[in-house]
Amino acid sequence: MSQKQLQFPICTSCNRTIMPNDECVKFMCPRCGEVLLWRCESCREFARTYKCSKCGFEGP
Ligand SMILES: [Zn+2]
Ligand SMILES: [Zn+2]
Repeated sequence: MSQKQLQFPICTSCNRTIMPNDECVKFMCPRCGEVLLWRCESCREFARTYKCSKCGFEGP
């Protein structure tokens, strides 16, 4: 039996694991367009900042 472990995305703002039922958003970095950024439900709600790991872009 080979079972693949599901990998959940990590919120870019708070580093929390995003569960499938989370009302999260994902988008490419608006500056470099190379990094996929995730925001969980609560970070969206509280408009926490995120930071791109590649170009260092910070934004709401
Ligand atoms: Zn978050
Ligand atoms: Zn970037």
